[in-house]
Amino acid sequence: MSRNLKARDIAQRPNAVVRKDNHSWQVQSTDGRSNYTVIDWGDRKQCNCVDYRRRKQECKHIKAVEYVVLKERFGDLIN
Ligand SMILES: [Zn+2]
Repeated sequence: MSRNLKARDIAQRPNAVVRKDNHSWQVQSTDGRSNYTVIDWGDRKQCNCVDYRRRKQECKHIKAVEYVVLKERFGDLIN
């Protein structure tokens, strides 16, 4: 599964992406056994998973957050 598909899979699980405050989310891992923290710095997001730390690029947890944020804002338009 690609990162995008995994991200969408996480985003569609109930309570897998939980907003903690204005700048951070708690995101479930793919296997559902642990959680990562995604922080929004305004111009970029960071995650504390291994994938992000290695690649310094958007991991599936960050993509899951962005998917949920878009769904919150625009979901009503397409449902
Ligand atoms: Zn991550």
